[in-house]
Amino acid sequence: MKNFEYKSIKVMFKSTGGIESCYILPDLKIAFDVGRCPVELVDIPSVFVSHGHLDHASGIAYYFSQRSLKNLGPGVMYVPHKILKPLKKITQLWQQIEEFDYKSNLTGLQPGDNVEISKDLNVVPISAIHRVNAHGYVVVKTVTKLKTEFLNLSGKEIAHRRQIENLFNIVKQPLFAYSGDSTIEIIKNNELMRKATVLFMECTYIDDKRDVERARKWGHTHLDEIIENADLFENEKVVLVHLSRRYSPYYIRSVLQKRFSAKLQEKFIYVE
Ligand SMILES: [Zn+2]
Ligand SMILES: [Zn+2]
Repeated sequence: MKNFEYKSIKVMFKSTGGIESCYILPDLKIAFDVGRCPVELVDIPSVFVSHGHLDHASGIAYYFSQRSLKNLGPGVMYVPHKILKPLKKITQLWQQIEEFDYKSNLTGLQPGDNVEISKDLNVVPISAIHRVNAHGYVVVKTVTKLKTEFLNLSGKEIAHRRQIENLFNIVKQPLFAYSGDSTIEIIKNNELMRKATVLFMECTYIDDKRDVERARKWGHTHLDEIIENADLFENEKVVLVHLSRRYSPYYIRSVLQKRFSAKLQEKFIYVE
């Protein structure tokens, strides 16, 4: 698996367009997409699936089966609501084939839902634009911040005055966002995606052999569109993922060096 780390956000991942997508945040014990279920995913109790294409979702029954074998409890697999029924059916069918009852827990989500993963962390699904019903996701942290007018109070004063008045603002900070498979509109339409500290952004095509029109036709994003809209991305780091397997790491690096200014190369990165 590839490894990415920035500030406190650590991600282990596999990501090649059409082959496999799986992003694990080990410290938060959550993951986005199952891919073909790498062994590292089995211990992660909450997985958010972006859509039903097999490069993102083929390991679902395997995940539940492995967790049952290891007595880990079913875990929760959150999926777009529209594909909940067929996924339940296919998981049932695998249990019949294997003659083994898995504990499985598939839960449907729709944009507007909100999943609490800990007291101050939530995952929210975002509507993506793809060939099939699809979600992106954002991990949002709730932070309690002292209101500016109270910033120079001492610790003792704060402790005393907080008993009688509200000294704090509740701030929602998007920490990590994942686009899933989508056209660039997922960025244009969603402030949370643009403001996340770290964004994992799909960028399936990067040259003229597969142009913008083709990328859009298949519900994907082209590097040209990311460059054209570079100002929209307020993120600190944008990791380009889901690149087509037609590109070698060497070629990807050389294209990014050519197309992004030195400053933007610090923000828009590819992890080998
Ligand atoms: Zn894909
Ligand atoms: Zn797809």
